[in-house]
Amino acid sequence: MIVCKFGGTSVGDAAAITRVVDIVTAKLDQQPVVVVSALGGATNQLLDLAHKAADGELLAALDIIAQLRDRHLHEAQALLAGTSDAEALALEIGSAFEELAHLAEAFRTLGYLTPRSLDAVAAVGELLSSQIVAAAFRQRGLPGVYVDARDVVRTNDLFTRAEPDTEAIARACREHIVPLLQQRRIPVLGGFVGSTAGRVTTTLGRGGSDYSASLIGAAIDAAGIEIWTDVDGMLTADPRVIPSARLIERISFDEAAELAAFGAKVLHPATIAPAVQRGIPVYVFNSRKPHGTGTMIAFDAPRRPVRAIAGKRGTTMIKLRSSRMLLAPGFLRRVFEVFETHRTSVDVVTTSEVSVSVTLDDTHHLGAILQDLAAFGDVSVERRSGVVAVVGAGIADGSAALAQALAALGPIPVHMASLSATGINFTLVIDDEQVVPAMQRLHTAFFGASA
Ligand code: ADP
Ligand code: ASP
Ligand code: MG
Repeated sequence: MIVCKFGGTSVGDAAAITRVVDIVTAKLDQQPVVVVSALGGATNQLLDLAHKAADGELLAALDIIAQLRDRHLHEAQALLAGTSDAEALALEIGSAFEELAHLAEAFRTLGYLTPRSLDAVAAVGELLSSQIVAAAFRQRGLPGVYVDARDVVRTNDLFTRAEPDTEAIARACREHIVPLLQQRRIPVLGGFVGSTAGRVTTTLGRGGSDYSASLIGAAIDAAGIEIWTDVDGMLTADPRVIPSARLIERISFDEAAELAAFGAKVLHPATIAPAVQRGIPVYVFNSRKPHGTGTMIAFDAPRRPVRAIAGKRGTTMIKLRSSRMLLAPGFLRRVFEVFETHRTSVDVVTTSEVSVSVTLDDTHHLGAILQDLAAFGDVSVERRSGVVAVVGAGIADGSAALAQALAALGPIPVHMASLSATGINFTLVIDDEQVVPAMQRLHTAFFGASA
């Protein structure tokens, strides 16, 4: 059994979905479970229309609904014309968008959105794409069966970033997925989407289809989890920032997890954990080049001082200074309890005898966090920060790579620097607008000049 996940561009239109069918056809003997994202860009449009409706721009929202409906109908028609699925799917698409139009009207009347209602809207993209892809399999004579992800991916009710209940997911896979595989059928599910125990629709956070794939892979103890996307694999940096970035053929779980956490969008940051627990290799492939070597993510990989560079913009840095920190046992615990109370995870941490600095990606509860931290000392916040990470299992084998990284940054000011205890991630907090130049400098230093 394997899990094959196809991202938004890989199911963006009928031609892309046809490539998906070809890829899966070549894997039938491995008993694939297929997980798909929404048609490329659909999730952004769905969220956009919800916000527009709540802001009173109902006509603009209805316009987006019409565009999305026509796009889904058009691609479904291109794939399925003349089949018995075509009509049923057209009705399904029509009614999903009719329901969205009603929701949009409700948002306009209310004038606000809740995370729960945002999830109901965002989920429509994957719920429809998975039905289209399952029907496209059948059209080509493959036994594709649509499985509603809400029957499988059980989560808590932290809407818009729900956390999985892995035991419930394992039970649901035994009930809804494994029997299909035993009958040599191909289950097709939408990624990103889940539901609470009370069956209210949730989502796993943006980019969460990768996470769905690895949760399902772990639940069925798959032999591999394949992430099919629009680049050749994991590269030495984001190719949109560094066009000369090179393919990484093999990378360790730890390195890949660090890269994902520090900005390599090719994998959702939570993707690696379920795979590691079961020792399931994760592969990243390009759906436009199905015969490419791709990247294999596994426990071991040839040790390198630097494997790749990642960067992310828009982080927030908080600095707390307090003389009470001096020799005070338990001080840091109390400080970090503030973040726990507000369900916010911290990213980079540095401390001195009288100060602690942290960065956050999630600023939902920033106001409350700052208020609570003020009880400990002087707090300052810098919202326009960014992070660059230099990742490699051998980065701490001597100081050469660290010195080279700092030297490469040249005049770029560094606000925090942290070498992870595992010695695989050297993280630097810099100004937001310096992230791209810093990545370019670091990539040139470690992987040669840009082409
Ligand atoms: P999908 O829709 O298939 O999930 P994403 O857009 O989420 O695709 O992720 C793929 C994108 O990740 C690539 O187009 C690339 O710009 C970006 N990316 C960022 N860092 C890396 C990296 N180190 N290697 C490969 N791709 C990366
Ligand atoms: N469609 C969702 C998003 O755009 C999930 C995903 O593609 O992984 O965030
Ligand atoms: Mg993605």
